[in-house]
Amino acid sequence: MAEKVFIFDTTLRDGEQSPGCSMNLDEKLEMARQLDRLGVDILEAGFPIASQGDFDAVRLVAAEIRRPIIAALARASELDINRAWEALKEAARPRIHTFLATSDIHLQYKLHKTRAEILKLISFAVGLAKSHCQDVEFSPEDAGRTDRAYLVECCHAAVEAGATVLNLPDTVGYCLEPEYEKMFADVKARVPGMERVILSTHTHDDLGMAVANTLAGIRGGARQVECTINGIGERAGNAALEEIVMAIHVRHDVLPIFTNIHTEELYTSSQLLTRLTGVAVQRNKAIVGRNAFAHEAGIHQDGVLKNAITYEIITPQTVGMPSNQIVLGKHSGRHALVQRFKDLGYELNKPEIERAYEQFCRLADRKKNIYDEDLIAIVNEGFKDIPEMFTLKLFQTVSASEGRATATVELEKDGEVFHDSATADGPCDAAFRAIDRITGIPGTILDFSVHTVGPGTDGVAEVVIRARFEGREFTGKSTSHNVVEAASRAYLLSANKAAYELKRAHAAASAASGSIHENEVVERLFPGGY
Ligand SMILES: [Zn+2]
Repeated sequence: MAEKVFIFDTTLRDGEQSPGCSMNLDEKLEMARQLDRLGVDILEAGFPIASQGDFDAVRLVAAEIRRPIIAALARASELDINRAWEALKEAARPRIHTFLATSDIHLQYKLHKTRAEILKLISFAVGLAKSHCQDVEFSPEDAGRTDRAYLVECCHAAVEAGATVLNLPDTVGYCLEPEYEKMFADVKARVPGMERVILSTHTHDDLGMAVANTLAGIRGGARQVECTINGIGERAGNAALEEIVMAIHVRHDVLPIFTNIHTEELYTSSQLLTRLTGVAVQRNKAIVGRNAFAHEAGIHQDGVLKNAITYEIITPQTVGMPSNQIVLGKHSGRHALVQRFKDLGYELNKPEIERAYEQFCRLADRKKNIYDEDLIAIVNEGFKDIPEMFTLKLFQTVSASEGRATATVELEKDGEVFHDSATADGPCDAAFRAIDRITGIPGTILDFSVHTVGPGTDGVAEVVIRARFEGREFTGKSTSHNVVEAASRAYLLSANKAAYELKRAHAAASAASGSIHENEVVERLFPGGY
């Protein structure tokens, strides 16, 4: 009989700590709700000791999301584990996930501890976590490069102390498939008490083998897999959830396993993460890339038209990808629009419907055919109002091939209107500087990308901007027929996020000053994660 593989999503922990992928509290909650809809079994919400933001995210996710197990990461120390429990204790199904490096390389250069000391620490950490909650996961960090006999001892110590899940990470993405498979088989065969414990994979994509290694781990006996949406994560990323799930789904003929993931939510999950982080997947990304179901070669198109099975192993509908047909035009009503949004996975409330309809009508006046991508772009404008947000009322730029460009912008906040002008080398930069003069927090552009949304020359421009404000990075995304307008709106969105987060961080810091230990301000203690 087919066995279930538990999907452990770490988008909000391992994924979120990768460059450019940071999310604020509201964004993490929005992502967590989608992961719940997707059907993940375990949701790792953060690393509570790493920062106040991580702590708050775990606490709020644990309080709201009740179906999946909510996990929080902690190093093998008293402070970390107690802090993780503090954040988790409201959860319906809490899990403390503690980790400690076990490879000689890490012992010698990072921890400066002997093997015997590490064994003691494992027993202590798992035991302490177990005193807080029933469900405890232990990860021997860098298991892939740990001496096998010693790894077995470490796992034994964790199981003895009450670990319910043993996760064997290939922290540095170094293992080849047969090696990774054998590690699981060895631990399963040699550690006493394994019948009470679930083995878990955690792979990284440094050599492009994260998903293949995950499947190898499953062959070796793992029944939990750790992964992220779009494969985001440290360095080259983690194993991509959508790829693992679809490999299991498509090849059930040879893989006697299944997951409880609602595959039709995969595309929406991928899109939401892109919207929240501003980091898009490449066009040819498996399962969720824009070209994943596009057939270009004539011979392929011909085959697909005769019967899709000739070149299509997955239908776009299975992963919830819009079919890219013309769906709506100028004469479509509100009802048709709401229905189409529903089909695309967006449940809009009343004010959102009104706003979407207004934008839709404006677009339909300028553009004959409205594609699903256009509709997604409309909702991606962001309906969530960040409190005290500046909105762009008006902008004007003047630029020529010679000389400097000038921009004038008018912003509104809480009913008050502000305007200012600035000059710069180009019109976008001039608009950003004018925005800076009003918001008072100047930003530095780190990344600026433009692409068109939807086919045809009347497609709208989508601009994604990543900018640094006071040392922290924020992203904004917007679409318009006018590139400078889209850029201005995207930049303003990132500035609004920055203003909101910086204000919240200052408030939290002054409320907690002196009362919470020094780790409060240490952002990422372990930059490598595991
Ligand atoms: Zn990792």
